[in-house]
Amino acid sequence: MKPKICLLFAGGTIGMIRNKKTGALEPAQSAFDIVREIPEIQKHLKLDFKMVVNIDSSNMNPAHWTEIAKTIEKLYDKYDGFVVVQGTDTMGYTASALSFALQNLSKPIVFTGSLIPLEEIGSDGRNNLVYACLTATLDIAEVCLAFSNKILRGNRAKKNHESFVAVFHSPNFPALGELGRPTILNEWRKKRRKRTLKCSPNFDPKISLIKLFPGFDPEILDKVIDRGAHGIVLEGFGPGNVPFLEDSIIPQIKRATSENIPVVIASQMERGATNLSSYEAGYYAQKAGAISAQNMTSEATVTKLMWTLAKTRKIAEIKKIFAKDLAGEVS
Ligand code: ASP
Repeated sequence: MKPKICLLFAGGTIGMIRNKKTGALEPAQSAFDIVREIPEIQKHLKLDFKMVVNIDSSNMNPAHWTEIAKTIEKLYDKYDGFVVVQGTDTMGYTASALSFALQNLSKPIVFTGSLIPLEEIGSDGRNNLVYACLTATLDIAEVCLAFSNKILRGNRAKKNHESFVAVFHSPNFPALGELGRPTILNEWRKKRRKRTLKCSPNFDPKISLIKLFPGFDPEILDKVIDRGAHGIVLEGFGPGNVPFLEDSIIPQIKRATSENIPVVIASQMERGATNLSSYEAGYYAQKAGAISAQNMTSEATVTKLMWTLAKTRKIAEIKKIFAKDLAGEVS
């Protein structure tokens, strides 16, 4: 029996055409059935197509993540794996969000897309689509990306470079596999076994992501709190250090925490992790109530905070959730 795979289409360059007037890429007017572009795949698996939306991924928001999660939940028992096609710009966010929304997976959810539209000569879309569909039949049970020649964990992946070789990378976790002849899967991937899916598809988007810089005005944080943010991610220096002398933001961290607004500190370094106990510049933030993002990507940190806030606004519970590894996002 051929494996059954469902492909959910959510837009991106792969389904775009060039506007003759502006020369810019935009979503094709009529969403075409991209399954027709890869007829040979039907020899290996039974592929069904589901249209979610056809937009540039910069226009995607948490409501789209929820829709994708709910669609997969509804169809979950009917398929051996899922492929989600979307734009690369925010793919790291959607893949991270889905890894929290759909936990305890027993089959793969594989993201892919392309840098060049399928319609244009030299597109990477065809290869990516074929390999993503094949990856969805393999012994993997997690949200991942199959792009270029790599399979990466979804909540560890970051868009890296608009070149065919390394569109995505995974700075803090090794690749789950290498696509090719043959495809090689690494031991540390999550493998298929019988588990009961836990679907929790909601996100609270009322958060802020703020990158600190020397001279950062602490009042910005007050304004964010005044405007009713439910949570804040702060990208600190090095291992998550923050100013604590002139322009100290420690009072703002204290204020936010006392008003039940979690402040998660992430690192501006792509590789490496937040460690709030290595310098006093982190220690004071931690004492004021800040939560460490450890070695999560900013995509995983932001989506984990949105997902957590949709469950609870209690800071003690949020701290507990952030200390846990929910879907391989942190180590
Ligand atoms: N702007 C596009 C998008 O993210 C880029 C891509 O698909 O690669 O939708």
